[in-house]
Amino acid sequence: MPARAYLGLGSNLNHPPRQIKSAIQAIAKLPGTRLKCCAPWYQSIAIGPGSQPRYINTAVEIDTVLKPRALLQALQQIEQQQGRKRIVRWGPRTLDLDILLYANQALHTRRLQIPHPRLGERNFVLYPLADIAPGLNLPDGTSLASLLAKSSPAGIVRLNAGGSGGRAG
Ligand code: AMP
Repeated sequence: MPARAYLGLGSNLNHPPRQIKSAIQAIAKLPGTRLKCCAPWYQSIAIGPGSQPRYINTAVEIDTVLKPRALLQALQQIEQQQGRKRIVRWGPRTLDLDILLYANQALHTRRLQIPHPRLGERNFVLYPLADIAPGLNLPDGTSLASLLAKSSPAGIVRLNAGGSGGRAG
């Protein structure tokens, strides 16, 4: 049985809309994986060192037979293929792919934490996720709606153009 998972996507370098589009295409081609739904895109102000270009952020819903570690590996491969270089922590990046949620699983290993540890703190993650899965609950029972209610939309703008919002069969 495939597991339903939610992924966060972000880019602030090297033509971000192109990066996000091509990452979504690559995710859709992962083995044993179906892309179910793409959230609208948001533009967000970068958090992190120095002055950085704005990000494009979005989220997607997938059904996948890949287990969490294999999924992380596959996502990191896509990041590498799109030329991501890890120079500065929280510095600008071509592409950042995160596993936000995976089925109803909680996982706390050194390499992988699910739900994503900063899910609740980041409006640019919560807003697109809530657009595609407003009724979601975290494995500990916390509702996404309650996290969203505590989260200010300051610093993010929903983009009408560019977003490929919609649900695939
Ligand atoms: P970042 O620089 O923010 O992309 O962080 C990447 C690191 O976070 C990777 O080395 C992963 O092993 C780790 N990590 C932990 N939990 C997650 C998660 N849920 N999704 C993606 N990366 C994660």
